[in-house]
Amino acid sequence: MYLADEKRYDKMIYNRVGKSGLKLPAISLGLWHNFGGVDLFENGRKMTRRAFDLGITHFDLANNYGPPPGSAEENFGKLMAQDFKPYRDELIISTKAGYYMWPGPYGEWGSKKYLVSSLDQSLTRMGLDYVDIFYSHRPDPNTPFEETAHALDLLVRQGKALYVGISSYSAEETKEMSKIFKSLGTPFVIHQPSYSMFNRWIEDGLQDALEEDGIGSIAFSPLAQGLLTNRYLNGIPADSRAGRDAEASPFLRPDKVNETLEKVKALNLVAQERNQTLAEMAVSWILRDNKVTSVLVGASKVSQIEDNVKALDNLTFSKEELQQIEHILK
Ligand code: NDP
Repeated sequence: MYLADEKRYDKMIYNRVGKSGLKLPAISLGLWHNFGGVDLFENGRKMTRRAFDLGITHFDLANNYGPPPGSAEENFGKLMAQDFKPYRDELIISTKAGYYMWPGPYGEWGSKKYLVSSLDQSLTRMGLDYVDIFYSHRPDPNTPFEETAHALDLLVRQGKALYVGISSYSAEETKEMSKIFKSLGTPFVIHQPSYSMFNRWIEDGLQDALEEDGIGSIAFSPLAQGLLTNRYLNGIPADSRAGRDAEASPFLRPDKVNETLEKVKALNLVAQERNQTLAEMAVSWILRDNKVTSVLVGASKVSQIEDNVKALDNLTFSKEELQQIEHILK
């Protein structure tokens, strides 16, 4: 039986999500990789337990996480039933719909038909009555934004989600959605964009738009899928995301490792000077200016989660360090 660590709230930092009443841990755990039907269930169990013991109260999922699609939610449902049931009220669980999930015209994108059906499926897989945050996973160019927003609003009114979010919407699209949500009175509290030292698109307009409307943000792929760590400093390990075969792991390929290696090595030296691992520095860097609510890391091992949480021991950067990092990233 799992008994959560009594000291789990001693060290973690909890940040307010925009101007809402909700707080998220500065570091959250995503279940995109390593929690699917093809992965070792016991490893996923160890990681979620350790994460919660370290104060990580937020687990992020999506309908399609696996592989196979849906299996991460199924596995999480088992973990909920076996380990986390007594702690449901201490957890923020999110899921999303937007990418391909089932065949036919209603199995992806942003229609009301798809979003409502998909959340029902997700709740069944996870054995939950409600999720804390439900996201539109990507903007749909062929569905009116009003329809997508109305669907999310309906799900809140039905009690199936407490808050709603959007993911990967541009600054302009975000402003449009925010306006609709405001008119409906929907608790739209969070945006989930990609953000890391290697991917800074949100600095160009989105962060300002979120600030203006009092919306929080949670950064996905903050370690650039593992590139911004020591994982690839001495070659490409067979069990890494880039080392697995292309079919099993299409999102990070060895060419990306080779392209970025020089910068990664230079950044690693800056991290060493700060007495941090590169992963720790990459997490701290995202939190450096208090614009991002939570850093949404992925992990394949318990030790990686422990390392990422250590980032909180050193969150401040000197002007010189920031300049050094800018110089390397140029
Ligand atoms: P990261 O950038 O954090 O990459 C995670 C990977 O980095 C791990 O699987 C591991 O790689 C490696 N890693 C993590 N910590 C360390 C460490 N301390 N030392 C060495 N290596 C480390 O994030 P992800 O790309 O996994 O994304 C995180 C989450 O964001 C997802 O789980 C999902 O919830 C969300 N997401 C959302 C998307 C959206 O469209 N909204 C899209 C993508 C992700 P390895 O496996 O090789 O060990």
